This record gives sequence, C-alpha cells and structure tokens, in this order.
Amino acid sequence: MPELPEIEIVRRDLEKEVVGRRIKDVEVRTGRNAMKIIKRHGRRKEFQDLLTGAKVESIDRHGKWILLELDNDRVAVIDLGESGILVKTSASDVIVPHTHIVIGFTIGGQLRIVDPKLSGEIFVTTPEDLKGMEEYQGFLIDPLETPLAWQRFSAMLEDRKEAMKRLLADQNFVVGLGDLYSDEILFASGLRYDRPSDELSSQDVRRLYRSLTETLQDAVKARGTSLKDTQFTDLGGVSGQYQSELKVFKREGESCRRCRSSIIKERFDGKDTYFCPQCQS
Ligand SMILES: [Zn+2]
Repeated sequence: MPELPEIEIVRRDLEKEVVGRRIKDVEVRTGRNAMKIIKRHGRRKEFQDLLTGAKVESIDRHGKWILLELDNDRVAVIDLGESGILVKTSASDVIVPHTHIVIGFTIGGQLRIVDPKLSGEIFVTTPEDLKGMEEYQGFLIDPLETPLAWQRFSAMLEDRKEAMKRLLADQNFVVGLGDLYSDEILFASGLRYDRPSDELSSQDVRRLYRSLTETLQDAVKARGTSLKDTQFTDLGGVSGQYQSELKVFKREGESCRRCRSSIIKERFDGKDTYFCPQCQS
C-alpha cells in the first residue's frame, strides 16, 4: 500500500511534471467496475466536464490525498487506496491493464491512474467543500507536514494509553505509516510494539519523535518502498529503494543490523509485527 512517503514522492513528481499544464480531455475507461473510481460523481460526463479545459495551478497533499489545484476554483482529489499508481506517460504509450482514468494535456502527455484493486478514487470538488469534509479532518499528525512541538506530542501519547504499534498504525492518530513504517519507526526508537504509550520517558518520546520524521524523510529520499505485494512506482514508473534499508519489516529470522540478534515476527492486533528483541524494550 502506498503510505505517506510514497504519496509525498508522487506529489513532488507531479509538481515537476504537471503544474502549468492544461487538461485537454479526460477518459474514464469502460469496464465492469470502472465507475467505482469516480463514485462521488453520478455521471461520467459530470466528472469529465469539471476537469476538461482547466489548468493545474499547483499540487498539494493532505494526508494521503493528492490535490491537484485547478484554475477553475476546483480541486481534483486523488486517493491511491491500497494499490493505486499514478503514471505520467506519452499519449502513444501502451495502456496497461487496470488503467481507469486517463487525463490528457494540451501540450501532450497523459496522467494515468492504474489501480488493480480499484480501492482508490478521484473526485473533483471546491476547496471549501473539501475542507468541510469529515474525512479531511480525519487525522491528528502528518509527520512530513506539520511541525509539532514534542511536548504536545508527549501529551497526546499520554492521553491515548495504547500499545505503541496500535497507536502508530492508527490512521486517525498519525496518517500514513501503515505496518511497515510503524515497525521501522519503533525499531529506530528502541521501543517494543506493546509498550504502553503513556509509559514513555521524556527521552523515549524525543527519540520516537525524531525517528518518526527521520524514517519518513529517509524513505522519501530512497524514493519509497517497493515490495512484492506493494508494487509502488513513482510518476515515471521507477520502483523505490527503501526496501533495502528496512531494519525489521519482513526480516524475521535475519540478523539485526545493530546487534545481530534474530529479528522476530509476532502477531499483534491480527497483523504481523516485526521487532528486535534486544534493541527494543
Ligand atoms: Zn537488535
């Protein structure tokens, strides 16, 4: 699943590749489930008309939503869901299976949404309506966006009284970490997945806070994580490299890069959780 670093990579790519371009046409490709991707629009034509002729003025991100801000006072919101990929292609490139949306630009080039599981979506709305949406208010912390005073972070952790992994993987608390980045951040912080969030020392909190930002920034630098089951590619179709830097995730039985103990996998909250029994407590 693309998480916060991958979404941020796509946002930066779009900033370079799509800003200033005017939309010539929009194709919603036919198919059994194709309408699911524009489920907030009753009709295909309504969706197409909102985009056609508009110029992309800027690209923003709100949590895991990618926002294309248009010159017609609308914003196109793209949610890549579990399996969505955005690719910038030329019009002559072969359309791969599971391509649901093709946005063509007047000076050439296309932006395509490919989504095998069809778990993502795209919709067009006004900036005001967007900010009023319940889902827009859905999370407290975006570690790549809002600088948060660590004292405030500390108070939030104490407030929640939950196992650290459960808290980090909770999209309503920190957006876009998922299992992978939660496990990696906990390793970097030296904290076990089941450590209660209200039993951290101030040193623990500082280390966690720093790891949270640094892990995500490192993942952005490495152009994201592309594992077998999460085939992330950037706007140019290139895979990420962060999988080779993973310290614990999917490394059970391999030796810890820091202390050489065997990395352990346990079930927690119905999900696989990876950690080093020596480095994390
Ligand atoms: Zn270790």
